[in-house]
Amino acid sequence: MKTKLVLNFNPEASNLPITHNLTAKYGLLVNILRAEIDEVGGKMVIEVSGKADSIKTGISYLKEAGVGVRPIKEGVRRDDEACTHCGVCISICPTKALILDSKTHKVIFKEEKCVACGVCIDACPPRAMEILI
Ligand code: SF4
Ligand code: SF4
Repeated sequence: MKTKLVLNFNPEASNLPITHNLTAKYGLLVNILRAEIDEVGGKMVIEVSGKADSIKTGISYLKEAGVGVRPIKEGVRRDDEACTHCGVCISICPTKALILDSKTHKVIFKEEKCVACGVCIDACPPRAMEILI
């Protein structure tokens, strides 16, 4: 199975080799979708693949290590009323989930292409994009 997780790191946890350990100790494949982390902490969005039991054990390991873990259950949503169709998100979305409709000149959000990397969330001026957890 696969699951996406938002990880929050405090300063103590920020130097831990957590992605290495999830792979080496629990046999999980870890795809880092987004990372904003330094020595004082930060946030990471990862996609974890493996056996359900291994994912559960891996999440327990993260929590015991002091890492905040929140599963992403529903992905990313756009508040269509807040979106000004400024286009900032188009070039930064790695999967082309945000594209310009050449006829209407509006930005379309194709949810089925979104991998919840979170890049658009901080970049969107009116904060129209949000991760649903
Ligand atoms: S950056 Fe935000 S406001 Fe601009 S087009 Fe994208 S979702 Fe809409
Ligand atoms: S979170 Fe935003 S930038 Fe990332 S894939 Fe989804 S729409 Fe694109």
